[in-house]
Amino acid sequence: MKGIVASPGIAIGEVFLLEKVNIELDLTPLAEHKIQEEIEGLKKAIAKTKQQLEEIKQRTLETLGPEKAEIFNAHIMILDDFSFYKSIAANIKMKKLKAEVALDGAIKEICVMFETIDDEYMRERALDIKDVGTRLLYNLAGVENISLKDLPREVIVVANDLTPSDTVQIENDKVLGFVTELGGRTSHTAIIARTLEIPAVVGVQDITNIVKNGDILIVNGLDGTIIVNPSEDELQKYKQKRQEYIEERKELVKYKNLPAVTRDGRRVEISANIATPADVEGVIKNGAEGIGLFRTEFLYMNRDVLPSEAEQLEAYAEVATKMKEHLVIIRTMDIGGDKNIPYLNFPEELNPFLGWRAIRMCLDKPEILKTQLRAILRASKYGNLAIMYPMITGITEVRKANSILATVKQELRADGISFDEGIKVGIMVETPAAAMIADKIIKEVDFFSIGTNDLTQYTLAVDRCNEKIANLYQPFHPAVLRLIKQVIEASHKYNKWTGMCGEFAGDERGVLLLIGMGLDEFSMGAISIPNIKKTIRNLSFREMKKVAEKALNMTTPEEVIKYLDTIINRTTLNL
Ligand code: PEP
Ligand code: MG
Repeated sequence: MKGIVASPGIAIGEVFLLEKVNIELDLTPLAEHKIQEEIEGLKKAIAKTKQQLEEIKQRTLETLGPEKAEIFNAHIMILDDFSFYKSIAANIKMKKLKAEVALDGAIKEICVMFETIDDEYMRERALDIKDVGTRLLYNLAGVENISLKDLPREVIVVANDLTPSDTVQIENDKVLGFVTELGGRTSHTAIIARTLEIPAVVGVQDITNIVKNGDILIVNGLDGTIIVNPSEDELQKYKQKRQEYIEERKELVKYKNLPAVTRDGRRVEISANIATPADVEGVIKNGAEGIGLFRTEFLYMNRDVLPSEAEQLEAYAEVATKMKEHLVIIRTMDIGGDKNIPYLNFPEELNPFLGWRAIRMCLDKPEILKTQLRAILRASKYGNLAIMYPMITGITEVRKANSILATVKQELRADGISFDEGIKVGIMVETPAAAMIADKIIKEVDFFSIGTNDLTQYTLAVDRCNEKIANLYQPFHPAVLRLIKQVIEASHKYNKWTGMCGEFAGDERGVLLLIGMGLDEFSMGAISIPNIKKTIRNLSFREMKKVAEKALNMTTPEEVIKYLDTIINRTTLNL
């Protein structure tokens, strides 16, 4: 089978099918004689859920300590609460509902009660009740719900889809690779896979129906091929290929600490993108000169409440300290699109990528933004930090965000808390609107970072996560290339700099054009760094300027790609 390459490398291993079960609620009224049976089923499910929670509590106590284990105590208490049981049993008896339906109704009633109380602590308890309710629902329906954190052994995960918050929980030593039916190359799930250096292929049609648990799978993250239950010959061939890939990587590592300077002396900055402080290890290992994008929204995931200022300060200070004098660009949270945070209760949207996302949400909820900016500013004294706003479409958003930043700075000064007074502020240029008025916006900020993942999807009107239109998702489209050039030129005109933190910055062919257009900083998944440094060291800036000029005047992405391939294939790059 064939899919879209999401993360390079070759994985060979046993299939683990991750099934997200959608439990359908059966609303048919119960027959009188079935009521007792349903109540017995409820009691059994409660007992089973309690036993599972006791086990998780014990494990949490051993691994994460008493504070984290306390959450599960609270969950057990909910199950022990007689009124909880009574309200479900009453729904079964009086309304003749199946236990799952009665449970669903009871949970909703209780949550409405909690959510309307004007007390944050009590509102958070509604989340505990929802959690317990979901676990109980799975047990009532008799389905197993395994999380990626509880994998029993080394496997290849196969799923219809993995959300970015699922993926960020993956532990590299258990997941050899993964394959999904949905997704595109720049979906956040694919981006995280590259950060974790796990081979992955997405957009493989129907794979969850074709494979079963225990099948052997070869995932070729180099060309997107998937082989189910390979023959002995195939197995040997791919083990060999895997070995070659590992050797090739070792060879590339030689370039990791060399500067990215073209043959004729143009030096550019090579940085890495991260999602969590833990990713810094890979950043240093692969020789990045800074962090061009810290996707902070991942700090807000896989939890029940917003991270406090202190928690955020700890995370930012850890990254700042580890990166020493190197620049770390912290992007304010970019929630929405393919990244959801359940406890923020986002409304269902028809077009989440065009919806209440990133800076739009932050400007509507300034308290969230203020907490984050306070934490970033407080962390700024531990290293070399910069702030970046996502999804900017116009100057008003920049001004509003900067005015909140000014207030936060003023408050810190009043509290006698020190921070880097010279901290730089930039924006992501990832909407065509921002690119078109880059010459105006640049006057309000210190730098640009081009987000080609979104810029491509918005310019070409192609959903970056939709595998059905992946062929139309083309950063090499001259429309995208022209916008990129325009942004770089606008910044240079005002003696400022432009970086790129979209995946295009780590694309070997793309780099030819970007060097030629004068891009100053390239930020990518750390795994791509050695190869990109090697590529840049082979180029001539003077020649690439001509190449870029020519490509910008072509009419189709295919034409541009074909042209760049011929350039790459020339051993000497003399034109
Ligand atoms: C981008 O859009 O190119 C980008 C780097 O941001 P994200 O992928 O997080 O949307
Ligand atoms: Mg983006």
